[in-house]
Amino acid sequence: MIPIQEPYNKTVTEVISQLEVDPARGLSTIEAKQRLKLYGPNTLSAKAPKSLWRILLDQLLDPIIYILASAMILTFIFDEWLEGITILVVIIITAFIGFFMEWQAIRSVESLQKLTRANAYVLRNGISRKIKAHALVPGDIIHLHSGNIVPADARIISHQGLAVKEAILTGESNQIQKNIAPLPVETPLAEQLNMVFKGTTIEKGNAVAVIVATGDETMIGQVNILTQEAGKERHPLEHKLNKLSGRLIWLTLVLVIIITISGYLQGKELIPMIKIGIALAIAAIPEGLPIVATISLARGMVRLSKQKVIIKKLEAVQTLGETGIICTDKTGTLTEDKMAVHTLVVFNKEWNFKEERSVISKTDSLLYQIVEIGVLCNNSSILEDGKNDDSIEIALLNFSQEMGFDISTIRASHPELEEIPFDAENKIMATLHQDKDAFLVCVKGSFENVINSCTRVLTYEGIISSIDRKKWELASNTMASQGLRNLAFAFKNTTFKPENNQLISDLIFVGIVGFLDPPREDVKQAIQTYKDAGIKVIMMTGDHPGTAKKVGEEIGLLPEDTSIKSVIHGASITNLEQISPELETQILQATIFARVVPKQKLELINFFQQHNFIVGMIGDGVNDAPALKKADIGIAMGIRGSDAAQEVADVILMDDKFTSTELAIRQGRNIFDNIRHFVVFLLSCNLAEIIAVAIAAVSNLPLPLLPLQILFLNFVTDVFPALALGMGRGEISIMERPPRDPETPIITGTLWLSTVIYGLSITAAVIGITVYTSTYLKLSPIIVNNMAFYTLVLAQLLNVFNIASRKVSFFKNEITNNKWVWASLLFSILIMLAVYNTPILARVLSLDSLNLEQLLTIIIFAIGSLVLTQILKRLKISD
Ligand code: ADP
Ligand code: MG
Repeated sequence: MIPIQEPYNKTVTEVISQLEVDPARGLSTIEAKQRLKLYGPNTLSAKAPKSLWRILLDQLLDPIIYILASAMILTFIFDEWLEGITILVVIIITAFIGFFMEWQAIRSVESLQKLTRANAYVLRNGISRKIKAHALVPGDIIHLHSGNIVPADARIISHQGLAVKEAILTGESNQIQKNIAPLPVETPLAEQLNMVFKGTTIEKGNAVAVIVATGDETMIGQVNILTQEAGKERHPLEHKLNKLSGRLIWLTLVLVIIITISGYLQGKELIPMIKIGIALAIAAIPEGLPIVATISLARGMVRLSKQKVIIKKLEAVQTLGETGIICTDKTGTLTEDKMAVHTLVVFNKEWNFKEERSVISKTDSLLYQIVEIGVLCNNSSILEDGKNDDSIEIALLNFSQEMGFDISTIRASHPELEEIPFDAENKIMATLHQDKDAFLVCVKGSFENVINSCTRVLTYEGIISSIDRKKWELASNTMASQGLRNLAFAFKNTTFKPENNQLISDLIFVGIVGFLDPPREDVKQAIQTYKDAGIKVIMMTGDHPGTAKKVGEEIGLLPEDTSIKSVIHGASITNLEQISPELETQILQATIFARVVPKQKLELINFFQQHNFIVGMIGDGVNDAPALKKADIGIAMGIRGSDAAQEVADVILMDDKFTSTELAIRQGRNIFDNIRHFVVFLLSCNLAEIIAVAIAAVSNLPLPLLPLQILFLNFVTDVFPALALGMGRGEISIMERPPRDPETPIITGTLWLSTVIYGLSITAAVIGITVYTSTYLKLSPIIVNNMAFYTLVLAQLLNVFNIASRKVSFFKNEITNNKWVWASLLFSILIMLAVYNTPILARVLSLDSLNLEQLLTIIIFAIGSLVLTQILKRLKISD
């Protein structure tokens, strides 16, 4: 249902009266509630979520299941009912675990999305407040600021320099300047300049607007082009893991063929051969791998979210561990963003306000001019909070108030007529005011841009028309070298109302104000950690090079080697496509880029990526969104960050702390280490099983492992130690080594070698005990099999201790320190004992009772395999 037709065709007054709202007070809370019931929530009805059946079916469409199912069918054909049914149970369990995991993952992604859902500023009961965008209703009066994503379709009531990016809706990538005049009925969407549409981004300026449509009634809801997450996205990690298990399956196929041919040549019977085939197929599949991988990734995400770091995309966890460069803005990320006026320079005079504010008299005429510009050329207010107020503007208001001026009197006597809002590109802001019968233009902005538009200077003796640019530049640089952020002030009076494009020209320069924005306490430590971790931190700021350099020094960002040109001015890197080799080296060595515009941030990220770095980017402004998207890891601030930045980011820091990125990177590295650990563990266990069965098959030994025993191993006893490895807290030195090369696979050559050696050592023990008990002790085949099986169980459990690097002590390392490892070993042994003592389970696994001597033999062989591996490791044959 739509409350109003063609709102762009009507005047603001008509729209407002039709929507029955008072623009000065907004809707009442009660009215809003009723309308919410009537029109429904302001959300797009998502594409029907994946049905539970679909999720379940997906689990069954998996190579692992195919192989198990073929094995099951074969066992039924051979009338092995017990085995067949057990395999069926295993299939069902596998499918259900997968089902549960995926369902859980979908739900947690949903809840994370809720956490990051956008807010909107709405006027209700006469009070401006921040609410969740989904609670907006037609008739709501909303405030829009640059950086916002428009929460619903709305008719603009008033605006200042509003420019909107509507590419998502119209495909038009340029900014669209808006106005409020009514338009003909036949105006196409792209030309409805008096409207703003849900999902588009406010690039510049601000506006007050009245909502005309919400939810599915909005343009974007109608066209429904908001891309919905289609199906389940396989993350690259899962892909890599699948490839790994795929290799094992191929290895098995090859083995099955060899064994069948050799068996055929030896004239063996068919049925035992098929049984061996089944055993091999089951042995080859690391059934626990996907489960363990999902759990450990999910756990990493949960751990991080407790530390106020929200990972929006699962694959980001992996990329975090590869990050080699972190680009960050300065204000608010490296500094507190709590500004205060510190220094004031006007013609022939300078004041410092460390503590003492009352050093100048209120009647000083130049001071008054600065205050007037500071108050008028200003979109913030001290009283109302909650809006995206600019901290530099707040500082100006505070200063004016402390100096004894009344902000509302100044504002009331100079109504604002026009505004050119500040943006990071032009670094200047101008406003036009009514000044009795004449007009006043107020301008503030970066020193260079302001002074370039000035032709005169205000002094105590009146206006003079010569500018001592050198002197002012010196003042600006001096402030910058103290780490002060500086802002220049200018104005002009006119008798005729100037056009918008004449505001910033022929100005009268008044002075420069320096703001103190102290660096954040904890940043220095984080930067040191990054240095140790081989990660380079790069500051990209629109601020003055001097200010950037000083802040950089304070937080330890500048290299100790002073011969390196560490600060690069944006003006010197205008074309990164064609640069000299010297400049290329300079850029690669630099840690600070000052006076850069948003487009250059994007180009620099691209430049670093071309030099094979994995680049993380921290940003908050709407202008940062493209760079955040371009970076391998986009990191947005949760509190200060604009909607647009949060929308494209992979990671959101809910507490806005630079140091939180360190937690994220540490966790990213840690998770990858853990994955390597349990992959090597599980693969070496599977390899041991495959080789043991294969050797037995070609050598006429009794089969050391029956299919169900293998299933039991893979499914029960192996999974718990693997999970424990996935929970590891990581080496202490994890942030003291360089970032991982993204090209390196999960399992490197060295790790494959280790996997094979661990696997073969276990096989050696299993085959050893089989030979020993069958040919030397001449025990019954069932006892031989049982002893081999138990040896395998125990040797595989002990295999966790092989995972620690040989460079650390065998007794004290991250594996022995991991209490989950001990718990999992204990748990696995308890399960084994329980099965042994439960007659029906013992029958399923073909287990008979053993005597103490046999038990000791098993223990000796199992420990023997651990000792063997450790010797091989210490001989540096494996890692
Ligand atoms: P960053 O966020 O990288 O520190 P900005 O792009 O915010 O840099 O600011 C760059 C320059 O623009 C500042 O050094 C200052 O001179 C000027 N500036 C910042 N905020 C405003 C504002 N609200 N109005 C006018 N000029 C501003
Ligand atoms: Mg900024």
